[in-house]
Amino acid sequence: MQKIKKNDIVQIIKGKDKGKQGKVISLIEDGARAIVEGLNLSKKHKRQSRQDQKGGIISIEMPISVSNLMIFCKHCSKPVRVGAMVAKDGVKTRFCKVCKEVL
Ligand SMILES: [Zn+2]
Repeated sequence: MQKIKKNDIVQIIKGKDKGKQGKVISLIEDGARAIVEGLNLSKKHKRQSRQDQKGGIISIEMPISVSNLMIFCKHCSKPVRVGAMVAKDGVKTRFCKVCKEVL
């Protein structure tokens, strides 16, 4: 079961942005990498176009391997391990292994 989903709040546990939190805005490569809002930014030079006269340098989010991310639990205020369970109606849910809160 995929642990990280779109709109999850995650914390980076490895790399230059270690310890920072953000919201997952998309998943790529079958969920192997995630794009997290405002994190793992890379500066790119943007060329001027006729529609946009500004050009210059912009920051874009680079994909992060999901193995470097952990779900951030609002109740625990820390990154936590996530468990999965199937409810009686067959719907899969995820829960925080620390406080057992459904995510
Ligand atoms: Zn928790």
